[in-house]
Amino acid sequence: MAQFKAGILGATGAVGQKFIRLLQNHPWFTINALGASGRSAGKPYSEAANWIESTPMPDSVKKMKVRNCNSSEFGDVDFVFSGLDSSVATEIEAGFAQAGIPVISNAKNYRTDPTVPLLVPEVNPDHIELIKIQKFSADGSGWIVTNPNCVAIPLTMSLKPLHDAFGIHSVVVTSLQAISGAGYPGVPSLDILGNVIPFIGGEEPKISAEPLKLLGKLEDGQIEHASFPVQATATRVPVINGHLLAVNVKLNEKPSDISEVSEVMKSWKSPIADLGLPSAPVFPLHIFADERYPQPRLHADSENGMQTAIGRIRGGDVMDVSYIAMAHNTIRGAAGGAILNAELLVKKGFLK
Ligand code: NAP
Repeated sequence: MAQFKAGILGATGAVGQKFIRLLQNHPWFTINALGASGRSAGKPYSEAANWIESTPMPDSVKKMKVRNCNSSEFGDVDFVFSGLDSSVATEIEAGFAQAGIPVISNAKNYRTDPTVPLLVPEVNPDHIELIKIQKFSADGSGWIVTNPNCVAIPLTMSLKPLHDAFGIHSVVVTSLQAISGAGYPGVPSLDILGNVIPFIGGEEPKISAEPLKLLGKLEDGQIEHASFPVQATATRVPVINGHLLAVNVKLNEKPSDISEVSEVMKSWKSPIADLGLPSAPVFPLHIFADERYPQPRLHADSENGMQTAIGRIRGGDVMDVSYIAMAHNTIRGAAGGAILNAELLVKKGFLK
């Protein structure tokens, strides 16, 4: 397998640091360049970043000089991962793509662009074909691929088997989101300790919209979005890592009983299972029978943080099926998801 030189935009932030940690010893990708704001540019990474990972800062990045996020300073990379603040991602990411440098982004800015794949490899790997119609660079060498919101990822991974087997009529979901989802320094401790905050700005529209693009069909270079409504309530809870979702689904075709729903989820097979992608979890969905599970503190790190855990599958009088889903928000929901996207893009020949 060829080796690829990766840059990281937003390398000093919470997601940027997770990229650095996850890319240590990656078999295909090495970190060649780190970028952040003008506040950090010019400093060695060890001075610019307030390291919040629980493992030590890798020696390989300590002395790297942080660059401005300008494509002219990234001539020595094959592609970049982006963990940029959304207030600056639109222009910076387009600038890299226009300069012929592919961007694999976590930011929300291009997720709804009809030419940009919103990608979860286990859900919609075929959507990467959209890259071919992007117009960022004249020769097609620069493009953008995004990964979804950190709640939309486990929500959609859990809905996928139900959508395929029964069709989805409607979804009601409440998220209990970890504080690491707000970046660093994030939510003030006086607001969140011993408390629940019943609102996260801008989150609910993303949770409602993104599953529909992810579960949409690619036809004639366009995504025909899935058409069911998703009603979302997003809350912040005093958990460090791991967003937990209470999901309620009405189905188009009624299952014979709730065990049929559990069986459909358990027997679902990921379309990328046989591709040998280094970051792909062996079991993308894990279904717990024990009603106490999943729990963020116990299960967010399962399969290196790349698994979506599901539990408490049950029927109901209002909706057909209710369950809990949970995934690590900065790994499966951000940096790890983006690295898996990059691996799929290598395997499918878009990164070369
Ligand atoms: P963060 O901790 O606030 O980090 C933001 C990064 O953006 C920092 O590296 C910062 O650099 C950089 N930046 C800010 N202004 C800039 C500018 N003008 N030019 C260049 N770089 C600039 O945020 P985060 O939590 O890592 O989130 C990063 C992105 O991922 C956001 O778009 C977020 O919505 C998305 N996301 C986050 C999560 C999560 O769970 N945290 C999950 C999914 C997606 P300086 O340090 O130099 O300021």
